[in-house]
Amino acid sequence: MKFATKAIHSGLSADPTTGAIMTPIYQTSTFVQQSPGKHKGYEYARTQNPTRDALERNLAALENGSHGLCFASGMAAIDTIIKLFKPGDEIISANDLYGGTYRLFTKVFEPYGIKFHFVSMKDKDSIESVVNKNTKMIWLETPTNPMISIIDLKMVAEVAKKHKLIYAVDNTFATPYLQRPIDFGADIVMHSVTKYLGGHSDVIMGAVIVKDEKLCERLSFIQNSCGAVPGPNDCFLVLRGIKTLHLRMERHCENGRKVASFLAEHPKVAAVNWPGFETHPGHLIARNQMKDFGGMISFTLKEDSQKAAFTILEKFELFALAESLGGVESLCGHPASMTHAAIPKTEREKVGVKDSLIRLSVGIEDADDLIDDLAKALG
Ligand SMILES: *Cc1c(COP(=O)(O)O)cnc(C)c1O
Repeated sequence: MKFATKAIHSGLSADPTTGAIMTPIYQTSTFVQQSPGKHKGYEYARTQNPTRDALERNLAALENGSHGLCFASGMAAIDTIIKLFKPGDEIISANDLYGGTYRLFTKVFEPYGIKFHFVSMKDKDSIESVVNKNTKMIWLETPTNPMISIIDLKMVAEVAKKHKLIYAVDNTFATPYLQRPIDFGADIVMHSVTKYLGGHSDVIMGAVIVKDEKLCERLSFIQNSCGAVPGPNDCFLVLRGIKTLHLRMERHCENGRKVASFLAEHPKVAAVNWPGFETHPGHLIARNQMKDFGGMISFTLKEDSQKAAFTILEKFELFALAESLGGVESLCGHPASMTHAAIPKTEREKVGVKDSLIRLSVGIEDADDLIDDLAKALG
């Protein structure tokens, strides 16, 4: 089955009791048993809920995995993955990372004795230089946030395989429409469903997709034990959002291309980070592992100051200044003071998060209006 068909049908079937074509919102905390232990597959809604099940099956199909697990947020999904490990274990993470992930790794899990190495994932050597007998997992995002750099999924898979490491990819920016890490050798795909999958800026949710039964069992055990599960209403909203994922992504990509091209020509702009440009260092890799280049763009100004960036951000009328990304409406942000404020200045400047860096999540409005708004704000 092709992607658009999967988005609309996978994991879903008409409600067995009523024939309702849309998966009902099973707003219940528990399920009646006929006799102790004898039931219809559902006991208690932290463990399983039919609305959540439908979404989990749908996500597994979209990512070409075998199992999906949904969580109360993207962070709760990451939290669950890291709880696979124990004190003394080491994880190699890409150094260009969502700020909240960096905070969870360094401020929550390091004190529990899990060690993280933050490295550039441009080549095998920099990853392998920190592999040792305690290394258990490789973690990365691509495209990265907020530099929109590209990491070669297949190259990292080779390193993970060679050293028998679990290989996890945060696929939030690309979505399964653009890129399916499992096809390139990943063991775990994670999403902030809050972003493109939900797509309408009205839900906080996370997901984990795997292809291995054993790994799924371990993650399900943690999901149920720790309990950071989403409610059925939110699962319904995301199921509804995913039905148009392919259409939304097509427009995000088309608008992204137009906005990036406009910015690249603008006299006040120093550099535009968007993998669709042939000059982008990850362009060929992106061509190889992504269907298109997405709607996430970041750029720096010739006048590299926070003040210059703030002036522009305040002038936008259509681009709303807000955390988050991936919704139908266009958003803008200032990574150094917003999403990446938790990362020390020296660390963030190492990966290029300068004071004038502005990040855009290009929405699905008319591109002409978005470009007008950018032209006015840039002055
Ligand atoms: C937003 C985001 C997260 C965290 O997800 P929440 O749903 O906000 O908890 C993780 N990774 C990336 C790349 C994100 O953009």
